[in-house]
Amino acid sequence: PPVYEQRYYFVKNLVNQHGHKKIADLGFGDATLLWMLKYHRCVQYLVGVDIAAKPFEWGGGRLSPGVGSYIIPRELDLTITLYRGSAVQKDSRLCGFDLITCIELIEHLDSEDLAKFPEVVFGYFSPGMVVISTPNSEFNPLFPASTFRDPDHRFEWNRKQFQMWALDVAKLYHYSVEFSGVGDPPAGAEHVGYCTQIGVFQKNSTKPTELSISEPEEHVYEVVYTTSY
Ligand code: SAM
Repeated sequence: PPVYEQRYYFVKNLVNQHGHKKIADLGFGDATLLWMLKYHRCVQYLVGVDIAAKPFEWGGGRLSPGVGSYIIPRELDLTITLYRGSAVQKDSRLCGFDLITCIELIEHLDSEDLAKFPEVVFGYFSPGMVVISTPNSEFNPLFPASTFRDPDHRFEWNRKQFQMWALDVAKLYHYSVEFSGVGDPPAGAEHVGYCTQIGVFQKNSTKPTELSISEPEEHVYEVVYTTSY
């Protein structure tokens, strides 16, 4: 399968392993990952946040209950909500999730937003698990034109750059992180690593969960779509 699909399957495998109930996808794009996740029976709450999410685009789309969901009723309810907002804005409706995914998102953040990202996602949203994927620049020489893979990318990191950033973030917010990836290099080029590098962050359970009494409810995202099955 193409690399973008391998990224979605990577997330699906994690959801199968861990049985996450509440999942948020930051930078959901065309909502393909959310659509794939709605078929997991463990999932009860799916949220997407994208800075470019357009209202009215989702109503009759593939996130709405399909015929199948009526023929074979789900045992658990599922609610899907899409927001327009930025991954570096705090919104209290994103707090307390089991999993937050950021698939090919961080390389689109300018340095100011990248600096805010860890405090919002790890410090404030503080989910049980975070998955971050980003291009591995060491793979780029294998592409015909070896510049950035997308003109909207602000940076592309090699493995060391990504891992140093991720280890710092994990330490600061009390997570552990494991590195992986998808998109195998061709034979003979194994040294460049995966096409897409992935960090899987898990919140340290030893740290007692802080009571968020000091944090008031903050609703800054705009709801662009919601459905319940
Ligand atoms: N995650 C999807 C996927 O893997 O197919 C889409 C990846 S696309 C390369 C990056 C997405 O991030 C775009 O949909 C873009 O609108 C969104 N985005 C960029 N900056 C963002 C931000 N600050 N907050 C939320 N979404 C953002």
